[in-house]
Order: sequence, then C-alpha cells, then structure tokens
Amino acid sequence: MRYAIISDIHGNLQAAEAVLGLIERLDIGQIVCLGDIVGYGGDPSHCVDLIRRFCPRVIIGNHDAGAVGLTSVDYFNPAAREAVLWTDMVLSDEERNYLKNLPYEMDFEDFQIVHSTPDDPAQWKYLLVEEEAGPLFDFFNGRLLFYGHTHVPVVFRRDAEGTVHATGADDFILEKQVRYIVNVGSVGQPRDGDPRATFAVYESESEKVTFYREPYDIAAAQKRILQNDLPQMLAIRLAFGR
Ligand code: ZN
Repeated sequence: MRYAIISDIHGNLQAAEAVLGLIERLDIGQIVCLGDIVGYGGDPSHCVDLIRRFCPRVIIGNHDAGAVGLTSVDYFNPAAREAVLWTDMVLSDEERNYLKNLPYEMDFEDFQIVHSTPDDPAQWKYLLVEEEAGPLFDFFNGRLLFYGHTHVPVVFRRDAEGTVHATGADDFILEKQVRYIVNVGSVGQPRDGDPRATFAVYESESEKVTFYREPYDIAAAQKRILQNDLPQMLAIRLAFGR
C-alpha cells in the first residue's frame, strides 16, 4: 500500500490542488492528512471541501481547532490570530462541524499520525530538535510516526541503543531496530526556505519514505490572501518558504 501523507495546507488552495494533482499522477490511492487544513490562507472553505473529498483519514491541527473554538488563539502570533479569526467567520456551520469532530491522532497498520507531538497532542508543542525528540519515542508503539505543525520536514531516528539523531528530509528505507519520527513538511506554507509545497509518501511493502516538493502558483495564493485583507506578511512569506 502507498500512502501520501500531507499536512498544513493552511487555506492555500493553489498548493493543495498542485499536490493532489501530483498524488493523482503518482497513482497513490490513500491520502492521509495531518491537520491544519485552514489558517493563514485565503481559501479555507475550498480547502476543507478538497480534503473532505479526497482524504478519508484526517486529524485536527491547532489552526483548525482555533478556528472552531476548540483551542485558545491567545498564544497565536498576531497575524496567525487575525487569519484564524477571519477563518472562523467565513467557514459554514457544516464545515466547522466537520473540523470540530476530527480526532487528534490516528493509528494505521504500519504507522501512527499526530499533528504536533504524541505525548499530549492537544498541547500543540513544537518538535524541532533532537533533544525534544528523544522522550517522545516513549509515547507511541510502532516504528514510525508522522507529524506536521512545524512546517519543516525532518527525520528523527532512534537506534537500538536509544541514541536519537536528526537526518534531514532525505528519502530512506526503514531499518530493523530503528524507530522514526518524521515531519512531512507543509503543503501550504513551507518554512524551510524552499517555497514549493511539501509532502511525503510511505510505501508499506518496501518500507520506504519518499519526500516530494511540488511547485504551485504562489502569486495566485498571495492574491487570495490580499483580496481577503489578511496580513500582507502572510502573502509575502509564501514566496520565500519562510
Ligand atoms: Zn500549521
């Protein structure tokens, strides 16, 4: 089975369509979404609609939760807060209900998924460095956990001796006795300096993880942010992937 693992679409319809188009060309049947369908971008309803149509298995992100009143937006930075409050206003009740009922984590036969961290997914902690990754391996059972939230693709490996190190977003095949926490990056707002949309594919027979970068119409996504009077910096940063 091949799974496309996508995360952090953030209301960016152009990026979502580009990624779903590539997934279709790759002929991957299973699409899994790690949350943050909305927030930042100018097309939250369209993105919810796309994800509902193409991704049967979806978990909730902090911006989804913030937009439907499930989590406080007090700790969001001002631009993020403004966008999430606007998102709250433009979503239909039906779309809000859909987001409200998404689970925080999900188990698959070969891997597990969470938006932020597996110890307490509703706390929305950020996992960025090795020191933070080590203890988190105790909070899931399998060999492989996918997450999003930081918008920076990375692979944390823990070997049989318990040593953890980060290896960057390079394609890899699962090794025996090694466990992995993998960030698949962001579709709609990459922050690793590469503005292309990011996602990963997991092939369960070969136990291989492959990262993809896909260009999309950044100018059109920026236009949608500005047309809706959302903070200008949310549009500007898309061009830099920061
Ligand atoms: Zn996000």
